[in-house]
Amino acid sequence: MNKIELEKIKEKALEEHIPIIMDDTLEVIQKYLIKLKPKRILEIGTAVGYSAICFSEFLSENGKIDTIERDEERIKEAKENIKKVGVENKINIYEGDAVEILPTLNEKYDMVFIDAAKGKYTFFLEQALRVLKDNGIIFADNILYKGYVMSDYNKHKQRTAVRNLREYIKQTTQNENLKTQILEVGDGLAISVLEVKN
Ligand code: SAH
Ligand code: MG
Repeated sequence: MNKIELEKIKEKALEEHIPIIMDDTLEVIQKYLIKLKPKRILEIGTAVGYSAICFSEFLSENGKIDTIERDEERIKEAKENIKKVGVENKINIYEGDAVEILPTLNEKYDMVFIDAAKGKYTFFLEQALRVLKDNGIIFADNILYKGYVMSDYNKHKQRTAVRNLREYIKQTTQNENLKTQILEVGDGLAISVLEVKN
């Protein structure tokens, strides 16, 4: 892939305040991807394609990413970016609301990256678990949301989001089939591995 183009995409996204994955968060995920060598990745929240492009480098041979985005402008830019970097054969964008698209997916994925509407994280989790392969892994970005999630602050206008993120943490940590860690990298990253018990 064209790393110079990738760097330009990142710079432009940061300038335009598009909430792309933070460097330290990406580093953590990359460490898992090196070991996992995923064939299929599902991403919820494409934005301009930055994280999907970064992940595409770690796909196994003939591997593919499905990524969902509802904002038309961002979809357009993501398509251009994916072309510029030269990974258009590895990334497929589903255009529309993830709440509607997710229930229609019939494939199984090695990894799901949740990075969209914070008020929908528990729904995304339910759907991620439905499509996840045994021993697959779910990452949820922005899980600590500027620290609101772990504080007793609940008068914020984003309280629905905060409530949902707290519920996501509760559900993943209490699920006996999941091994979950919450990391304070970036804006908070939840990592849940689906461990199949024999
Ligand atoms: N993963 C990207 C950043 C995603 S930002 C990266 O790291 O490069 C979150 C994106 O999710 C936004 O572009 C927003 O439009 C999209 N989004 C939010 N809720 C959504 C939904 N319900 N369905 C589809 N896309 C959604
Ligand atoms: Mg994010």
